[in-house]
Amino acid sequence: MEKRIYNFSAGPAILPEDVLKEAQENLFALPGVGMSILEISHRSKTFDKIITEAKQDLKSLLNINDDYELLFLQGGASLQFIMVALNLMPPKNKADYIVTGSWSKKAVKEAKKVGTVNIAATLESENFKRIPKQEELNLDPEASYVHFTTNNTIYGTEWHKEPEVGNVPLVCDASSDILHKKIDVTKYAFLYAGAQKNMGPSGVTLVIIRKDLLERSSDSLPTMLNYKTHVDNNSLYNTPNTFGIYIIGLVAKWLTKLGGLDAMHKINKEKAGILYQCIDASAGFYKGHAEKESRSLMNVTFNLATEELEKKLIAEATEAGFSGLKGHRSVGGLRASIYNAFPKKGVEDLVSFMKDFQNKND
Ligand code: PMP
Repeated sequence: MEKRIYNFSAGPAILPEDVLKEAQENLFALPGVGMSILEISHRSKTFDKIITEAKQDLKSLLNINDDYELLFLQGGASLQFIMVALNLMPPKNKADYIVTGSWSKKAVKEAKKVGTVNIAATLESENFKRIPKQEELNLDPEASYVHFTTNNTIYGTEWHKEPEVGNVPLVCDASSDILHKKIDVTKYAFLYAGAQKNMGPSGVTLVIIRKDLLERSSDSLPTMLNYKTHVDNNSLYNTPNTFGIYIIGLVAKWLTKLGGLDAMHKINKEKAGILYQCIDASAGFYKGHAEKESRSLMNVTFNLATEELEKKLIAEATEAGFSGLKGHRSVGGLRASIYNAFPKKGVEDLVSFMKDFQNKND
């Protein structure tokens, strides 16, 4: 078997080795079925069991009650930018958006096609290096919803506590930190997340919708863009990403076996702590992009003194088996994405490498 290297990619990203091995073992034929997951009907009993269990396991992990429905959709988190607005903005047609990075901006761009967007806060003038404080939010109590992005994949910032929004439904894009810790889902009316960072392969988006919101979806919406269609058909109105849902199911079982989301959170804090500690102890050789209180546990972003030095580090790191460390083109520098499945040993090895690099280049 090929040797695996350390994959710091922001997404599609690393998956648990146990999940990959199980999927590989069963790819030729699912046990007792005699066909591959890639070949079976989405209407078969086998797939019904796979999707039901995946939903059930996610519900248990996140402690989701029956007021909510879980959906597995396609079109990425990007399609949710417009679906959220089309379905949830009516009848008032105005919503609050908290802008903490490029993905929030894209969500705003789509929402503006549907109704009035109030920018409740934007930290763009500070290059999105922190999460706004509660008192900086200019919220409209009459808004249809408040949209925010829990983790800003590009800038490496993360909300550590939900914004307080009163009775206005809270909607969030949790693409890059879903399942990284336990959250109180009852604080949210709607969550969505592309699978390709913490849950599975690209091509599936998890949607968690509080059922009362479905009243807002007008029958005049295009069928595929209406949440009611997908709720009424258990995410099987059209052919779903069967393989993606299967992998999400395996990842959910892996998380459960690990001890659930509190256990996962503990590991994530340890991993991120090791890396931030190295940055903080480097006497300015490595400079973190995010302000300390806003630091992400999933995407650690940092710069070196010059672009030349950053390029040198990336080249040497790649040579040494650390892949995907180049920062997003809009911020530059470096980004180590250390999602749930990323091993602690990989973070420790990266830190040794970084210390060594500093000794040679400081
Ligand atoms: N939101 C966030 C926070 C993201 O990180 C990404 C992808 N990196 C997206 C949305 C877009 O997701 P997709 O490519 O699945 O449309």
